[in-house]
Amino acid sequence: MRLRHIKGCEDFITDAKECLREDEAIALKGKIQDIFDVRRPLQIEIGMGKGQFIRNMALKNQGINFIGIERYESVLMKAIQRKRNLESDKAIDNLRFLCADARKLADIFETGEVDKIFLNFSDPWPKDRHANRRLTSPDFLQIYDRILKPEGVIEFKTDNVGLFEYSLEVVKDSKWKLDFCSFDFHSEEKSEGNIMTEYEEKFVGQGNKICKMIISR
Ligand code: SAM
Repeated sequence: MRLRHIKGCEDFITDAKECLREDEAIALKGKIQDIFDVRRPLQIEIGMGKGQFIRNMALKNQGINFIGIERYESVLMKAIQRKRNLESDKAIDNLRFLCADARKLADIFETGEVDKIFLNFSDPWPKDRHANRRLTSPDFLQIYDRILKPEGVIEFKTDNVGLFEYSLEVVKDSKWKLDFCSFDFHSEEKSEGNIMTEYEEKFVGQGNKICKMIISR
């Protein structure tokens, strides 16, 4: 998702108390939980977009701290504004944001600091020469391997069968284990209580099936 540049979005992100810029997060390495009032297990969504999924996860799971990660300021600004709108009813103190490129995550999180990673409707990058930009490429799985706890898991949803099949191949050739796999997740019992992302709602509305995998080591 790349929204048109919104004038002032960089300043908005710099001033937002619930958000860290990449350089600030790198400087805080090992102390990232200091951005929350209370330390709790930590779950992150990489490529959060406008943040519908992680907002609802935070509201539903008050015993977990969530960080939504998005590299574009204009997109992140929307996510922060929507969180603030919701907060007119009730503070959401277990949700923070990070304006960063996923490539930098091992410079931001300590080894084994993260309990769970969500990848939702990641950009497919269909051209072979762009394969290493896919958030399920071997390079990214290596980064996740460092920052995830030994018992940590990655949950990945997409409607893009090509990206899903590519990701299954990457997992097969790696030390990761496939704990769950479905090419039609919404028809599975396991989808009960599923929280939809913005893209998921859009693609389901178009009649697309949703693929999901859960992997661990
Ligand atoms: N997860 C949301 C959803 O399901 O509605 C948004 C999906 S959107 C297709 C993918 C998002 O991932 C975009 O907002 C994009 O900017 C972000 N993204 C892609 N590559 C990224 C990276 N390397 N680091 C951080 N964010 C990234």
